[in-house]
Amino acid sequence: MSFDLATRLAERRAAHLYRQRPLLDSPQGPEVQVDGQRLLAFCSNDYLGLANHPEVIRAMQQGAEQWGVGGGASHLVIGHSTPHHALEEALAEFTGRPRALLFSTGYMANLAAVTALVGQGDTVLEDRLNHASLLDAGLLSGARFSRYLHNDAESLGKRLDKAEGNTLVVTDGVFSMDGDLADLPALCAAARRKGAWLMVDDAHGFGPLGATGGGIVEHFGLGIDDVPVLVGTLGKAFGTAGAFVAGSEELIETLVQFARPYIYTTSQPPAVACATLKSLELLRRESWRRDHLNQLIARFRQGAAEIGLTLVDSPTPIQPILIGDSQRALRLTALLKQRGLLVGAIRPPTVPAGTARLRVTLSAAHTAAQLETLLDALAECWALLGQEDSGRA
Ligand code: PMP
Repeated sequence: MSFDLATRLAERRAAHLYRQRPLLDSPQGPEVQVDGQRLLAFCSNDYLGLANHPEVIRAMQQGAEQWGVGGGASHLVIGHSTPHHALEEALAEFTGRPRALLFSTGYMANLAAVTALVGQGDTVLEDRLNHASLLDAGLLSGARFSRYLHNDAESLGKRLDKAEGNTLVVTDGVFSMDGDLADLPALCAAARRKGAWLMVDDAHGFGPLGATGGGIVEHFGLGIDDVPVLVGTLGKAFGTAGAFVAGSEELIETLVQFARPYIYTTSQPPAVACATLKSLELLRRESWRRDHLNQLIARFRQGAAEIGLTLVDSPTPIQPILIGDSQRALRLTALLKQRGLLVGAIRPPTVPAGTARLRVTLSAAHTAAQLETLLDALAECWALLGQEDSGRA
């Protein structure tokens, strides 16, 4: 017996699902150098254009000078430093919750929160389109795990009726591959009726959504009683790295005491926390970034509809173009790349079978002119793809 990895890889290639890692040879930004080619990129999650902001860079440099480059140990040993603590306090204040707890990645934050809250004899109910880290967390928890229909409070309600033990309802705030918003008021009402807790991972909502960038809970005007467990990530609109869970004193202390992905890992470098403190300040101060981003979103949706592209009902910077077939999605990205544009093709298993798409993401760093370049190229490539299809038919 041996591991037949070659066959496994060949099968993935044959199914047009083989993934490549583009090699980035420039900082994040609208214009990047990838695999030796200069490209206009519409695939980063740097929604507010803070990943390469001079003030954030300076904050990280100063942080490294003052605190060194490594976290050194886990938070509970000697890795919890003043910048981590200050960032947690700033994030608690930003989210309007008593406390926030910092993690090195969103994946870890999600594993930590779910596994610390539910286990054997409990129930975890998740939207079927939740991010992989949430689904993995549900499985790892050992609780009864069930997925309800996408954004469907009725489907959730049926599962809540059968739930046992402590019950956690878990949803993305903004769905990462579709860009649509979770119907939090309805999900929250369903959870409350059954005494379940709602956990929202708002990785893509913090920054773009809400009057002050406070994400989906601010967008819907919800409080801590509605969403007791709130997760945000820092590698997207904040432009840095890491994540946080915000909630009550008891929730955060429970994570500190029981969450293995918190306890058994090295803290993020304190200089990263210094950078995030600055990006949080910019996110709040420079509201023009959100306004400009919203203008780009509106223009993209109008332009794409004129071309005849199929979009999702998304008010966020995530604007997928639904294609269906993985091979056609790849062909469209290849045509765009020939014209100097980088857009990611998202295929199964990241999205359900038959729903391959181009995931266009917009950023406040894009100019209106760059967006027009994208729309012009999409019109041309979409027409070409249609001609190729009819040529084959
Ligand atoms: N949650 C969601 C909804 C995400 O989209 C992502 C990352 N794509 C994560 C969590 C994981 O965050 P991180 O990249 O910080 O691990």
